[in-house]
Amino acid sequence: MLTSIVGINWGDEGKGRMVDLLAESQDIVVRYQGGNNAGHTVINDKGKFVLNILPSAILRDDKVNVIGNGMVVNIEHLCGEIAKLREGGINISPKNLKISDKAVVCCPFDVMQDCLEEDRLADRKFGSTRRGISPIYADKYMKKAIRMGDILHPEYLRSRLETIIEWKNLTIVGSYGAEPYTVEGMLDWFKQFGEPLKDYIIDTGYYLNKALDAGKKVMLEAQLGALRDIDFGIYPYTTSSNTITAYGPVGAGIPNRKVDSAIGVMKAYSTCVGEGPFTAEMFGEEAEELRKAGGEYGAATGRPRRVGGFDVVASRYGCMVQAASEIALTKLDILDYMDKIPVCVAYEVDGKRVEEFPSGEALNTAKPIVEYVPGWHCSTANCRKYSDLPKEARDYIEYIEKAVDCNIKYISVGAERDAIIIK
Ligand code: GDP
Repeated sequence: MLTSIVGINWGDEGKGRMVDLLAESQDIVVRYQGGNNAGHTVINDKGKFVLNILPSAILRDDKVNVIGNGMVVNIEHLCGEIAKLREGGINISPKNLKISDKAVVCCPFDVMQDCLEEDRLADRKFGSTRRGISPIYADKYMKKAIRMGDILHPEYLRSRLETIIEWKNLTIVGSYGAEPYTVEGMLDWFKQFGEPLKDYIIDTGYYLNKALDAGKKVMLEAQLGALRDIDFGIYPYTTSSNTITAYGPVGAGIPNRKVDSAIGVMKAYSTCVGEGPFTAEMFGEEAEELRKAGGEYGAATGRPRRVGGFDVVASRYGCMVQAASEIALTKLDILDYMDKIPVCVAYEVDGKRVEEFPSGEALNTAKPIVEYVPGWHCSTANCRKYSDLPKEARDYIEYIEKAVDCNIKYISVGAERDAIIIK
């Protein structure tokens, strides 16, 4: 049985929180794309954790976690993340963590290149997380990346580094005038942060195929959401990988498998980090109030998130491209304070009402058509059954369900593991 947990919106929907909860019934959780630009916040009986590279089931003792081939792994960051979790009492060993030999390594020169480019762009910047993600994905497709499996073969690693560093310095030194990287310096880095990971590196594709054949339950955990997908998102303000369900089996190393069920995690309102078109955006006091209520500051970067009302156009599109079978609606409790709840029901593009998510300049110029639905004015944080929710909250959920044409099965009313309603 193969299930995916994916984001319907711009990311930060609360996927980590849902994976932490739903992993209970799974055997293995796999991250299939992205790197340490992710920030999945999980709060459970063991404490509060922010996960960047590790799958969110790492907090459960009896689950196996896999870093798939579609990921880009900053090994220095991963070693730090593992050490921090161990300090928090989490057990991590090759038994519960497996790293694909085909995942590529995000190196210090990728991080440097990312920072140099954002600095060069200055006020035209993309809002990169400055973690080297786009340079390393570009390296991968230019076939100039180190893969995790290369760490197991020191002579081969050296020869790859010689080729790659010579090429990379053409950009770092030649274009940006920064300090060159050396093969010896990078070999030291690999020794320090690659060696401790050696026992975790395997062919995770064969591992997962065997597990699925043996009847194990596997969950694919996405980073970011549909609207950040490199092909189907708000290009060029997307991430550098495919965040969608359809890529899950490829990035996990099991391209021969079909996803049985896709759980789309969707927020009860909209948030967006960084630059780019965000049609439902609210401004001023109204926005500040929602940002504060939702604690909308990036988990990986601390950046304030842009906020807006629920966006029907973007979310319906998100459900479609994610092939969502059902929805987990998160952060409903954040709307408790509102008198009336704004919903962006359609866009206006060139004076015309549009209900299909546009792209490019049409999206850049789209204006929101906003309607308001009644608020409920009471706390939903302690509701645990659908019938516990006030009528207006149920009406809101059913309204959204109809608008995006997908069944809402889970409703999250708090960050804690048990703050959930199953409808
Ligand atoms: P992810 O990257 O999709 O996992 O999302 P983030 O971790 O960046 O953002 C979600 C944030 O909202 C985290 O701080 C969660 O602890 C928190 N959270 C998730 N679900 C809920 C909810 O239903 N209510 C409240 N109040 N907080 C939530």
